[in-house]
Amino acid sequence: METQTQQLSDRINKLETSATLAMAAKARELKEAGKDIIGLSLGEPDFNTPDFIKEAAIQAINDNYNSYTPVDGYAELKDAIITKFKRDNTLDYQRSQIVVSTGAKQSLYNVAMVCLNPGDEVILPCPYWVSYSDIVKLAGGVPVEVPTTIDSDFKMTAEQLEAAITPKTKMLWYSSPCNPSGSIYSKEELRALADVLQKHPQVVVVSDEIYEHINYVGGHFSMAQFEDMYDRTVTVNGVSKAFAMTGWRIGYIGGPNYIARACNKLQGQVTSGANCIAQRAVITALQAPISEIQYMIDQFKERRKLILDLLADIPGFECNKPEGAFYVFPNISHYIGKELKGQTINDASDFSMFLLEYANVATVTGDAFGGPNCIRLSYAASQEEIKKAMAQIKKAVS
Ligand code: PMP
Ligand code: GLU
Repeated sequence: METQTQQLSDRINKLETSATLAMAAKARELKEAGKDIIGLSLGEPDFNTPDFIKEAAIQAINDNYNSYTPVDGYAELKDAIITKFKRDNTLDYQRSQIVVSTGAKQSLYNVAMVCLNPGDEVILPCPYWVSYSDIVKLAGGVPVEVPTTIDSDFKMTAEQLEAAITPKTKMLWYSSPCNPSGSIYSKEELRALADVLQKHPQVVVVSDEIYEHINYVGGHFSMAQFEDMYDRTVTVNGVSKAFAMTGWRIGYIGGPNYIARACNKLQGQVTSGANCIAQRAVITALQAPISEIQYMIDQFKERRKLILDLLADIPGFECNKPEGAFYVFPNISHYIGKELKGQTINDASDFSMFLLEYANVATVTGDAFGGPNCIRLSYAASQEEIKKAMAQIKKAVS
């Protein structure tokens, strides 16, 4: 086994397994073995894809959409994306600036691969989405973590950004609404970051807006909306979350021509275009008014209240109030160094494993998100499951 691993590339041997997917796989395994596990680990809506989108996919099959698609996406889909960017973000893109990919994860990977040379630094405000640091490393980049705390609502300040920038800084990556903290950068907060970036013209921004519509406070602002940031920002988005389409695997970017062209070139050698049926369905999804998916957002909002209320009743779970996405990211340092059911909890990872074993609830350790004293719980689960999970956690830690 050891020798076989040595046969593999250093690249893959150094890569971490995705913590979210690993925990989801573990929970699935335990369920199959008969354990009654409540899965709050994976960030995946528990709704079905809306019927009007499914019908568009069936229509596409019947209309014989079965050939390779243009590498960077059907022209009609690009037009739907352009209209969406205009409608929701007042952003103007041309077709040549849009690249459709096999999920926003591939969009991010493409951007890292085309922008980074070995040793280039990428600033990641913590907590960040789990795959950012490994995607950056895979591309030869160096993640530079900027820690934040609950006191700043897990947001990076302009001063912190300034202090993190070096001559090697090539990019800044963040998500807003944020996975895992649920925080949303306001226009003013983004302006303060943009002012710092004006002094460092070599820094390209990746603004991951995949949770844009899952926003409980209103007001979504995109970095590219600032005229002086437009040419150096890649806006990443996708349909997995808001349209409950995780398995359809469609994500996209809008960005500067040179980056879009490079992503197109890379994708052409690696995956070709994204799935043809899914692309057709996404045209219909993006053309629909947001009111079509509002019922899911309303449900997430109710669940956010429910989980925050229930967590407030369990000692040692210090939460910020997430403004978007469907995660809570409590600080659980209260339990670190303590003994629970005869086990020493050395870190958040131990605590997450403890919850899996003694509360039958799957969560994800904050370490994977650059938030070492936290764990992440997804509330994209039914209210019954959330209630049951919180009761079991309360019992296990008491
Ligand atoms: N960015 C963030 C912040 C996410 O939470 C996810 C969830 N998987 C992705 C990107 C990737 O989404 P997908 O590949 O399903 O489009
Ligand atoms: N984005 C989701 C999460 O953070 C899906 C899992 C993944 O793609 O890693 O749980």
